[in-house]
Amino acid sequence: MTINTPYIGRFAPSPTGDLHFGSLVTALASYIRAKSFSGKWLLRIEDVDIYRNQKGSDLSIINSLLQHGFQWDDEIVYQSNRSHIYKEYLNKLSLENKVYICNCSRKDLQKSVKNIETGEYLYQRTCFRKNIQFSSNQSYRVKTEPSNISFYDHLQGFFTQNIERDVGDFIIWRKENFASYQLAVVIDDELQNITEVVRGYDLFVQTPRQIYLQNLLNFRRTEYFHIPLVIDMFGNKLSKQNKAKPLNLQTPEKNLIQALDFLGLEENALRHLRKNSYNCKEIINYAIKNLNLNLMFQTKSKELNSTL
Ligand code: GLU
Repeated sequence: MTINTPYIGRFAPSPTGDLHFGSLVTALASYIRAKSFSGKWLLRIEDVDIYRNQKGSDLSIINSLLQHGFQWDDEIVYQSNRSHIYKEYLNKLSLENKVYICNCSRKDLQKSVKNIETGEYLYQRTCFRKNIQFSSNQSYRVKTEPSNISFYDHLQGFFTQNIERDVGDFIIWRKENFASYQLAVVIDDELQNITEVVRGYDLFVQTPRQIYLQNLLNFRRTEYFHIPLVIDMFGNKLSKQNKAKPLNLQTPEKNLIQALDFLGLEENALRHLRKNSYNCKEIINYAIKNLNLNLMFQTKSKELNSTL
């Protein structure tokens, strides 16, 4: 499997809190991967879900990235400015009869079966044949097919999912009148010409849904590289929802070296970095030359998982 060049990667944080160690790891992995292919690295603020955004988080994330020596190419894209674009694609899918309106409540959904793997409810197509006329406050679901979607992840290997069986018709437009994460991310990756998506393993199982949408919309397929999650001492993913601590901005060099340790930079190289007082940009440049992200699973990252 080869990587398309010119390479364009991205980091796409949701502004739901400050940057924490887990998101630093993701940013760093995607940056190193992009720069090791002499590619571009874009920054996209995924603020499509207005109810989850936290005021000021975008600026705090941008500031943390700058403090850690990251430099993005092109202008920062905010999803909140792109609603009209997402709407156009929704209309296209609607005209092609590939989506339908659903007015089931959360309560209705809870009556359906849960997929053990994803923890999500499998929608029973209750609204599929109802032919509901449009009015405000209704969501749209995409019709799924019983075929398998397979993809190759450059770190995790092959994965196959039957969307209809394992996920069901999923929401692409929320009743609060904005695009779902799935629709927005697929459109943005296409329009920004992203060639590879590097992100946390929590989104691995959602990837076939995104490929399904790429196919429906006749978009290119991106490459994928899902990195292991940083977990806390209770076994939970470090996340803003789990109240992960914000990064200490007094020690950006130390944070970067710790992230590189997680990403599998070998002991000698880590020692080298600790011994020399490099600044953040120098640390990142050193990592671009010396870190092979593909070896991540053969290193001690798992050990580190349990101590964070
Ligand atoms: N916005 C998502 C997050 O902050 C990442 C989405 C993606 O990389 O596709 O977890």
